[in-house]
Amino acid sequence: MKYIVCEKPGEFILKEKEAPVRKAGEALLKINKVGICGTDLHAYSGNQAFFTYPRILGHELASEVLEIDENAKGIKAGDKVVVMPYVSCGECIACRNGKTNCCTNIRVLGVHADGGMQEQITVPANILLPANNLSNDQMAIVEPLAIGAHAIRRADIKAGETVVVVGCGPIGIGIMKLAQIAGAKVIALDMNEDRLKYAKENIGVDYVVNVSNDPVKQIEEITNGDLATAVFDASGNKFALEACPDYMAHGGRFVLVGLSKGELTYTHPKVHAKEMTLMCSRNATTEDFKHVISVLDQFPTESFITHSVPFTEMIANFDSWLKPETGVIKATVNFN
Ligand SMILES: [Zn+2]
Ligand SMILES: [Zn+2]
Repeated sequence: MKYIVCEKPGEFILKEKEAPVRKAGEALLKINKVGICGTDLHAYSGNQAFFTYPRILGHELASEVLEIDENAKGIKAGDKVVVMPYVSCGECIACRNGKTNCCTNIRVLGVHADGGMQEQITVPANILLPANNLSNDQMAIVEPLAIGAHAIRRADIKAGETVVVVGCGPIGIGIMKLAQIAGAKVIALDMNEDRLKYAKENIGVDYVVNVSNDPVKQIEEITNGDLATAVFDASGNKFALEACPDYMAHGGRFVLVGLSKGELTYTHPKVHAKEMTLMCSRNATTEDFKHVISVLDQFPTESFITHSVPFTEMIANFDSWLKPETGVIKATVNFN
C-alpha cells in the first residue's frame, strides 16, 4: 500500500509498504480522506519541538472499518468511523479524573505515533466513533471542530453571552460556530480582512473587528461598555494572547486554545481587578467529538474545505497551503 512520510523537515516522500496487520483490540481502517492542520504544517516546517522524524502525519481522518473485534459500540466492518486521534493511558491522574485529553502519557496519532497519511492503518478500537451518516468531508473536520467544542465546554458558554474569538483560522472558525450554536453572540477578531469576510459571510458571526483598528474600543461599542464575558484565543500569537484580557469583561474567562512558544506577560492588577479566570484548552474528549457529530449539519462544511487534492498530488501542493494568500482554511487529501 502507498503512504506519504515526512522524512525530515521540508521533505515528504511517497512510498510503498506492506499493509498493517491488526492485533487484538485494534481495528484495521481504510483511510478515505485526511484533513491538513496547523500541526502538520509545523511538523513539515520543522518548528515543532517535540516532533521526531520520519513521521507519517495525519490526524483528521475520514475512514472506514476493514476489520474489528466485536465491540460495545456495535462498530463492524464496512462502517464509516471518526477517529479520535488521542491515545491516552487510562491510568494517570488526568485519565482517572476523566481528562483523557491531557493524559500525562498522551500519544497523538500523526504527532507522537504514525498517523493516517496512508491507505490503511491500525488503531486502538476504543478511539473510534460510528459515523455512518456523515460524508467523508464532514468526518475529516470533526477533529478540528472537537478542539473548539472542548474550549466552549471548558468555558461553560451560556446563551445570551457575547464572546470574542481571536483568530479566524480553522480552529477559531469552529469555536465561533459552536459558540453561536450554544446561543452566544460572537465577535470575530483577525488582522486579515479576507478571513474576517469569511467569518461574516459563511459562519454568520455577529460582528467582525480588525485588530489593527483599536479593537478594545470597537468591542466596547458593540457591548455597551461591558466587554466580552469570554475571550478565546485561537491564534497562538504572543501579542494577541497578551491583548486578550483587555477584551474581557470583569468576571470573565480567558480561554487559551492556540499554543504560543514561550512566556506570556500580564499586568497583575489589571487581570486581578477583573477577577479573570484563565483556562487552557487542550485536545478534546469523546463527549466533545459526539457533540460535534450531533451539530455538524449546522456547519458550512463545503466552504470550510477550501482545497482538496488526490493524495498523489499532496506533496506538490503542500507548500502552497503554508501561504495564507492562497485563501486556505482547510485543505484535505483524498485517498479514493
Ligand atoms: Zn488538527
Ligand atoms: Zn493518562
